[in-house]
Amino acid sequence: MASKDAIEVIEPATEQVMAEVPRAGIEETDAAVERAKRAFPGWRAIAPGERSALLHRLANAIEERADDLATLEARNAGKPISDARGEMGMVVETFRYYAGAPERLTGKTIPVAGGVDMTFREPLGVVGLITPWNFPLTIASWKVAPALAAGNTIVLKPAELTPLTSLELERIALDAGIPEGVLNVVAGPGSVCGQRIVEHPDVATVAFTGSTEVGRGIAEGAAGTIKRVTLELGGKSANVIFADADLAAAASSAPLAVFGNAGQDCCARSRILVERSAMDDFMSELERVVKGITVGDPLSDSTQMGPLISADQLHTVSSYVNGDAPVAIRGSVPDGPGYWFPPTVLAPVSNDARPAREEIFGPVACVIPFDDEDQAIRIANDTIYGLSGSVWTRDGAKAMRAARAIESGVISINSNTSVRVSTPFGGFKQSGVGRELGPDALDAYTEVKNVYYATEE
Ligand code: NDP
Repeated sequence: MASKDAIEVIEPATEQVMAEVPRAGIEETDAAVERAKRAFPGWRAIAPGERSALLHRLANAIEERADDLATLEARNAGKPISDARGEMGMVVETFRYYAGAPERLTGKTIPVAGGVDMTFREPLGVVGLITPWNFPLTIASWKVAPALAAGNTIVLKPAELTPLTSLELERIALDAGIPEGVLNVVAGPGSVCGQRIVEHPDVATVAFTGSTEVGRGIAEGAAGTIKRVTLELGGKSANVIFADADLAAAASSAPLAVFGNAGQDCCARSRILVERSAMDDFMSELERVVKGITVGDPLSDSTQMGPLISADQLHTVSSYVNGDAPVAIRGSVPDGPGYWFPPTVLAPVSNDARPAREEIFGPVACVIPFDDEDQAIRIANDTIYGLSGSVWTRDGAKAMRAARAIESGVISINSNTSVRVSTPFGGFKQSGVGRELGPDALDAYTEVKNVYYATEE
């Protein structure tokens, strides 16, 4: 049995302990903030080209370890190894992308009377990063890379369920030449270490990904010291499929747009809105694909979906598929230990029903019929969330009208893509504040300073 000062890290496919790591508390969090504070003047003073070279070295070092990291992530988060390999590729790409940023953080010159006016984008100081268990290292890299590029130092708190790859990143960064104290990882409970980061007077900003409920508390806590916050929160995204779409393409890609990562994805297109006249054709293709999804051992190359992250998550997800739920399609799961839940499609569902309103964060999709474009947009927007979504149609004008009308930060047309390293990602409404990835992410890790230089006697 683990001591109360150790985190037992569980492998969700086997329910076995795969590692024990020391559990951080207030003292360790304060010490990490202190280390980051001391390292800040040195890190910000490193010349842009040199900081860029260090980030490239870090990207190369992660790439060399990518196979090990993918295996660790697949085991700890229960995700298919093929997905984990793709994610490690994205982590490397993210560090390479932001390695270009130190030399591109340009300001403006602004015409004024009596002198010269210019702006600088200054680093904030110590930044606090709080990450979830669904894409542990990937989401950490979306925050760590731009924060380092802009000259900040970091305290990163991964979710207690999945601390392993972030702890590895801390070691890899040191070996790659990132100076001591620049990147500090504290593995401990959110209610202790996370909250301390949020309240700590020496932390300048908090970038958080997780539930809307905890995000709300973070925004409240940050108000005490007027901290900046970036929040990437929940979603209930709509995949809107018009009857004039390429239905085979829409139906064959819809399942993994919800069931990828076992539905534990803030971008999951968990409300599939289908024009009523296309329902029958769509549902039969959907059934064929859902029944063919391979659910099983995360370490097998053919696995498309693994288990849920924990017994608690299994309990929560199960509560949405009770006796009354209109189960239209159900996939299969392996026998034996593991937090398994089959890919499940509920149809037809009213947008007022609980499974259509709440973020389930599991492999449960709701199919909601609609009659025309106006109704589709109304239903898509009838949610507190606004993170992601898709529109499928062969009518280009309708596609653009719908994409502009849907209240969400990310929309794809005839595709279910949500994130790309070079384009901004984030939510409208209660899905969050601020943007990650792409050029916009640097805004969260810099302050604009205006300098006026009088040139006239
Ligand atoms: P949380 O929002 O609780 O966890 C996300 C991160 O926040 C973790 O590192 C957690 O630490 C930390 N945290 C928890 N409480 C606090 C606090 N008071 N102050 C500061 N940090 C805190 O998500 P859950 O793990 O509980 O998942 C619950 C639900 O959240 C899911 O079912 C899903 O609906 C949603 N979710 C959404 C995600 C997204 O990508 N948008 C990601 C994860 C969850 P620790 O876990 O170590 O205690």
